[in-house]
Amino acid sequence: MRRFAIAVGLCLLALSLAAAPITIRVDASEAPSNVLHAHLNIPASPGPLALFYAKWIPGEHGPTGPIVGLSGLRFSANGSTIAWQRDPVEMYEFHVDVPPGANAIDVDLDYLLPPPGTNFTAGASASPRLAVLSWNTVLLYPQTSSSDALQYEPTLRIPSNWKYATALETLTGGGDIRFETVSLTTLIDSPVQMGANLKKLDIPNGTGLRHTINLASESAFALETPSDFVSRYSRLVDEATALFGANHYRHYDWLFTLSNQVEHFGLEHHESSDDRTNENAITDEEARKWVSTLLAHEFVHSWNGKYRRPAGLAVSSYEKPMTGELLWVYEGLTNYLGELLPYRSGLLSAEEFRDLVAANAAQMTEHVGRTWRPLIDTAVAAQVLYGSGNVGVSQRRSVDFYPEGSLLWLDVDMTIRSLTAGKRSLDDFCRAFYGGSSGHAEMRPYTFDDLVNALNSVAAYDWRSFLNQRLTSMSPTPPLGGIENAGWRLVYNDQPNLAIQHGEHAHKSIDLNDSLGFAVRDTGSVGDVIPNSPAARAGIATGSRIIAVNGRKFSSDALRDVIKASPTSTTPIELIVEAGEFYTTARIAYTGGIRYPHLERVTGKPDLLEVLGRPLARTSALKK
Ligand SMILES: [Zn+2]
Repeated sequence: MRRFAIAVGLCLLALSLAAAPITIRVDASEAPSNVLHAHLNIPASPGPLALFYAKWIPGEHGPTGPIVGLSGLRFSANGSTIAWQRDPVEMYEFHVDVPPGANAIDVDLDYLLPPPGTNFTAGASASPRLAVLSWNTVLLYPQTSSSDALQYEPTLRIPSNWKYATALETLTGGGDIRFETVSLTTLIDSPVQMGANLKKLDIPNGTGLRHTINLASESAFALETPSDFVSRYSRLVDEATALFGANHYRHYDWLFTLSNQVEHFGLEHHESSDDRTNENAITDEEARKWVSTLLAHEFVHSWNGKYRRPAGLAVSSYEKPMTGELLWVYEGLTNYLGELLPYRSGLLSAEEFRDLVAANAAQMTEHVGRTWRPLIDTAVAAQVLYGSGNVGVSQRRSVDFYPEGSLLWLDVDMTIRSLTAGKRSLDDFCRAFYGGSSGHAEMRPYTFDDLVNALNSVAAYDWRSFLNQRLTSMSPTPPLGGIENAGWRLVYNDQPNLAIQHGEHAHKSIDLNDSLGFAVRDTGSVGDVIPNSPAARAGIATGSRIIAVNGRKFSSDALRDVIKASPTSTTPIELIVEAGEFYTTARIAYTGGIRYPHLERVTGKPDLLEVLGRPLARTSALKK
């Protein structure tokens, strides 16, 4: 009852103060020491006041606001300290009494930047040479009918001699950088990347809007881009624009951080993305090729996720729970387009794109948990699955709406092409659903019905049944109709899959999921063992460590060679395995050789993957 009464009172208060901006001053000069300081001045009237630390973080699809990092919290009014209490039920809510005569309260707080090991923006975000500021980590906000209605005036101090990049407009630079006044929605949607080594690459394109790839790293060497780097990303911008037909931003910034000391992930925003990966992601040719799928994925989200957002994820403020039942669209279609656009842009070859599709199909086949957990439940349960880790992933499944989403949307794409004799495709759906007017950020929620109606307007069909069948299926086989209708089939052979091979190099591991039934690090550490695989039947457990292979000290090469020789071997593969404090000898009866997934042409059927990969845009790179 008490919380309800407060909520109603504050709602009215928030409305009456809608025009009064909150000031926020963040001091990031000690980011290299892993602490951020913030001071806020929040207009308020005398009486009870509830303030919130952001809990449900857009793009993270869960209650992941890093409340454990909030420290040094102090409230005051007119220079006098005010007592505060945390809500006993909602850990992200704080209660104070604003004293008589006060028209604002001051809030001081610190945010303790964490070491590596936590997901997304709650994870490591700083090193001695760089940092990424997510504003939600350093602010509180009063109850509001909509985060759009709260205005913030942000100021930021960064370490001396560092540079910065953000989608926010700068009003004045210098020691304290003053940014434009924006809504709470836009502030939380506009992280700031900063660092001693920061390089801005303007990407020429045909939209008339500024697109910039901002690179930050511990070393200047990591930022050295090859001569064709910019022109390739020009093509990506033009391909995305040609696909969607409009750009829902004033300008677009990739905040691309190359560091082994921060968490690795991508997080989408309307006018920017927070993209963090290995320090060598550009200087290593193979890594540079595959990182295009990260930059394309987050870019696609500006349309699919930010502009059009599932109603269950389009909550009005950060204390309101999100529901993820349409994440197979939000993330699944983005995964598909984030793989397709690099192909259309020449960032990936046709073979690399096909190997990506094959890797998705193989991984979803390996996730045998698909016989108890339908795809739709991976979306509904996303908020618990993101942090679920690798152990048990094949039996439990994980956020499978990404890779299976790619298969599903390829299936949709090929079905539209089939229904319309090649006259229409998913491109037409993208233009209809994600187009509109350009040059400003807005958000339009949608429902499952809206999606079905939009697909029907492209090609009349029973899309509701088509989608529901795939979302609720508990077949051991993932949806392969898109591959087959494109004139290809999934096969396994001993040739390296280029996408999987990149993963092996990046993670210093070998992927034996389609042979013995696990991946293993160069250290011998065994990843998730697939139930009923040859390794599982031999008693090898997830998390154990291989010591020896056929009597010889373990190395990745030794194990790979033994598996390659298995078709002509007359004896089982013998592994000495360390599990906890015990050593055992496992004998694996396996003669299948090394196996990787690929796509193989079906003779007599047209190659629609080649058609799919044709560029839509006349690129500005070519025009120049
Ligand atoms: Zn995504």
